[in-house]
Amino acid sequence: MSEKTSFYQHNFSDLESLLKSHALNPASASLLYRHHYKEKNLIPCDHHNLSKAAREFVVNNLDFTLPEIELAHESSDQTVKFLVKLKDGQKVESVLIPFQSKYTLCLSTQVGCAMKCSFCFTGTQGLKRHLETSEIIGQFILAWNWLKENRPDDQQLKNIVYMGQGEPLHNFDAVKKASEIFLDQHGMSLGVQKITVSTAGYLPGLKRWNEEMPGVNLALSLHSVIEEKRNQLIPINQRFPLQEVMDYIDTIPLARKQYIIYEYLLIKDFNDSAFDAEATGEFLKGKQAIINLIPFNPFPGSEYQRSTDESILQFQKIIESYKLPALIRTTKGDDILAACGQLNTKVQV
Ligand code: SAH
Repeated sequence: MSEKTSFYQHNFSDLESLLKSHALNPASASLLYRHHYKEKNLIPCDHHNLSKAAREFVVNNLDFTLPEIELAHESSDQTVKFLVKLKDGQKVESVLIPFQSKYTLCLSTQVGCAMKCSFCFTGTQGLKRHLETSEIIGQFILAWNWLKENRPDDQQLKNIVYMGQGEPLHNFDAVKKASEIFLDQHGMSLGVQKITVSTAGYLPGLKRWNEEMPGVNLALSLHSVIEEKRNQLIPINQRFPLQEVMDYIDTIPLARKQYIIYEYLLIKDFNDSAFDAEATGEFLKGKQAIINLIPFNPFPGSEYQRSTDESILQFQKIIESYKLPALIRTTKGDDILAACGQLNTKVQV
């Protein structure tokens, strides 16, 4: 008997090929996708429409084991942080963020992270390993199922952001395949506008974006347009300077209502002055851009502080004077360390 592979590892065409290679009708792929991703059943093998041979193939070749929720931590604002245990015992976090009776799921793509951004809690862990596609999909299915069981009245999980632990473009293949699965019309059929990949500016991944990534949104963690400051915040800026990153981003074809999202972390007395705001406005003006202003979330031992409300509003106003939309991202879940950059699987509150 061949070794089983995870069902959640295969995009639709992989699954069809796998079926074909076992001399089975590839049409069973749609039945399996519908059963598991559209109807979101966890248990395989009760598909009455599958042929006997296909059912046997499923039992013998596909594994439906999911990661486990070790802890679901609910915040007073309805945010839920999951501590997810992977098959080798490593742990990552995913966060369900409520927004107008719907939910966005913030997914992790790596255990730890190699980028070592100076303001980010996850970076202090270093990179342990990449997640597999099945582990990214697994986080979604666990969160979906948790909602179904715990909050059956508000079930809308429709948005995905790759903004949890890890640098998604450093784990390009798995993120690409997971996105293909989320988008596939035989299954979950999420829209491309509902998925956002956030990067610190990892150029080798960006160079593959146009050719390979299926039209989802891109967010760049900008945080400063001033070289020395960005170097200090995001060390990979020394290897992949912002201007080179922008040269690639500017080639991404955008749909009519699609924007590149620029995330800007506001750190007190570091990058939040009127001068910084003007420089950012100059840098981005004329681009199809949305600027997300993120007040810095402190974590144990962090060297930075959150900007004052006054300087956050001043920054927003200056950016808007460049005819750029600037949204202040309200902090969710910070009472349970579930907010951006507070994810660190070694420290639980
Ligand atoms: N590696 C990717 C995705 C993970 S971080 C990236 O860098 O974009 C997702 C977002 O959270 C990024 O914009 C990141 O800069 C932000 N973030 C990280 N640490 C933070 C903190 N302490 N407070 C607020 N936002 C933070």
